[in-house]
Amino acid sequence: MTTGRYSGKGIYLDANATTPVLASSAQAALQVMERFYGNPSSAHITGIQAKHILKRARELAHRVLGTTSGQIFFNSGATEGLQTDILSALHDLRGRQIDDLVLAYGATEHKAVPRTLQHWNEILNLKASVVEIPVDRKGRLDLAAIESLADNLGLICTMAVNNETGVIQDLDLLHQFVRRTRALWLIDGVQALGKLSLRLGEWGVDYAVFSGHKLYAPKGIGMLYVREGSPYTPLIAGGGQEDGARSGTENVPGIAAMSVILEFLTDPDQAVFRSNQQLFEFRDKFVQTLKELFTGVVFNTPIDISVPTTINFSVKGFSSKELMDLFDAADIRMSAGSACSSGMKSSFVLDAMGLEKWQSESAIRLSFGPAITRAEVDEACQRIRHAVGALANSCLLSVDGGSQRDLRHGLVLVGYGGATSLLYIDSTAKSCIIISPQQFLQERIVNFIACQGLQVMAVLSGTEQGAAAAREFSEQLIGAEFESDTWGVSRRSSAQHFTLMNDIYTGWKLDSRRVLLRVASQEDAIYLVCDTDASHVTRIEALVIDSAVLFTGAAIGEFLHTSGILPKLSKLRSLLTPWSFVVCPSDLQSITLVSDMFEGSQRVASQSHDLGNFQISPTDLSAFRAKNPTAEFIDVRESYEFHLLKNWHTPDLDVSPRNVPLSHFYQFLLALLAEQQGDHPLVFLCRSGARSSRIVQLLRGVGFYNTWNVTGGLAMCRMPAGFNDGIRDDRTPH
Ligand code: PLP
Repeated sequence: MTTGRYSGKGIYLDANATTPVLASSAQAALQVMERFYGNPSSAHITGIQAKHILKRARELAHRVLGTTSGQIFFNSGATEGLQTDILSALHDLRGRQIDDLVLAYGATEHKAVPRTLQHWNEILNLKASVVEIPVDRKGRLDLAAIESLADNLGLICTMAVNNETGVIQDLDLLHQFVRRTRALWLIDGVQALGKLSLRLGEWGVDYAVFSGHKLYAPKGIGMLYVREGSPYTPLIAGGGQEDGARSGTENVPGIAAMSVILEFLTDPDQAVFRSNQQLFEFRDKFVQTLKELFTGVVFNTPIDISVPTTINFSVKGFSSKELMDLFDAADIRMSAGSACSSGMKSSFVLDAMGLEKWQSESAIRLSFGPAITRAEVDEACQRIRHAVGALANSCLLSVDGGSQRDLRHGLVLVGYGGATSLLYIDSTAKSCIIISPQQFLQERIVNFIACQGLQVMAVLSGTEQGAAAAREFSEQLIGAEFESDTWGVSRRSSAQHFTLMNDIYTGWKLDSRRVLLRVASQEDAIYLVCDTDASHVTRIEALVIDSAVLFTGAAIGEFLHTSGILPKLSKLRSLLTPWSFVVCPSDLQSITLVSDMFEGSQRVASQSHDLGNFQISPTDLSAFRAKNPTAEFIDVRESYEFHLLKNWHTPDLDVSPRNVPLSHFYQFLLALLAEQQGDHPLVFLCRSGARSSRIVQLLRGVGFYNTWNVTGGLAMCRMPAGFNDGIRDDRTPH
């Protein structure tokens, strides 16, 4: 009986991306590297030993894949396997006379498949049509579509199990269809290995590809199956290894590691991989936990036809990015279900299944390997519960449990997925103004306001498109009618804590193209500028004067919700939209500022566009602090992330940063501006260094040069020294 475990930080629920290497598998690789390091082509004893390792691995592979004939070659992984198979098939098809040749693939295949088809189709000048086969709502291939291609079909590529959803294709049925044609059949078995019983021989599959790292073997080792008699063209020629099928000295350590996994899969007494029944039980537990915690959860994985190890879900009102950040902070690694991990990119797999847009844009994939333990599942569910509690305290989830609510003051951004609205909150008076309400965000804003215990005093909207949303908000939260034809403002008559003025600047023209609004509480004021006249743009570009900063409406979204970098001044022109926000700490400056802007004063801020090097590597932090004892550390992750994970141990430094969430950044900026630029260094951090880097660029762009970013953020701070040492840039402060 064989055993093996892995250990790692965090609970890893992203097994479809990759897996840790099992200790026994790593041990086998190490043993080969240290003791059985021979070249399998060598005739001496060390070589013979290495060759035996290959032979044994191949035998095990045949058993796992359900084949008694045909070839199994070891290579670097599935992507290489796809190149080899598709080249082989296309090379052969070039010699056959098939009219209007079609190369078909499933709409939910991994991108490596269609891209490889297109690549070799072009290189070989085959001029075949590369055709996508649609799937139904459950992600199963449309068999009628395959049948309609039958006469021209040269190659068909289908995956056994989908990487995003876990959907299993019905290979028995496919086999019946495909075998009625002359087509070659390629199966992407990457996500099926160890999760599905494979019978490649019985199905008559021509080619199949696998990657070791998806099932606890190291990266860089994979397997390729070729049916006996199916066309084969080596992708790599050279020393003739693998009987000339794949040259290059074999990766014996990788093959030995893979062998250990194959052995588990063939050993009925092994205790490392759980039974299917146990895995289904684990899935049920995750599903129940998510259902209990998120009322808006929807499961995108069709549970009845999927492997138990993948759960794809969406939560209404949250983007994948937000949920991933949340779970990451709770030390649970999951992935955004879509290919893109930031912004609101949708998943092509869920789109192909015809799921709703929001589901596709909000998808999260929870996937685990068959070696997961019950203790890990219990702990993960506990952490998910904890994470959701933090979300409730941030007022982003409407549950009763928000016992330690983070109460906010000043300008707070509420938004996700590129949609943003602002709230201007007076926490003393428990009231707020909603600026630029977006229909898409209605539920979130309403929940947030209720959770914070605020009364809405006014709703402001500067664009016609925003008027419909503003009207709804206004009726729901104020009970007043929204007058979109004048100011785009609706307010309570008792709005004493906020003044809304329209006459602060003499000579100001009140026409539909220029609107200036001053919103002030007892402590600060903001100016909302609506100006659609393009000739003002250059003056607006120059608007970094004294202690005021201008943001455009679009820039706010761009800055906080995408990877775009704001506002390099030169970029403002392209970002300018009707709504702009002028953030000022005091009235006087803002009046000057606004007058400058609209009356054409030549006051142009002397900004350098070179922001300089602002990165500090985690290993340089202690030296930086020794040199700058007054340095303040600021964590810009959202408060729910911060509360879940506060510790910032670098290899030789503990820091306790202050939390200034990105959604509250405007308020922080106001304070900074009011401080008249106290010159102590500000060091910004976040999870990956991306958000904090944008903040630093923004601050440097408006003149705060003593601001720094910790490269790689929390992720790199948690790496042991030696892994995160960068190549030191001469300009890095230390
Ligand atoms: N096919 C599927 C279904 C996958 O999930 C992956 C990896 O994500 C691949 C192919 C490519 O595998 P590799 O990157 O190991 O070559």
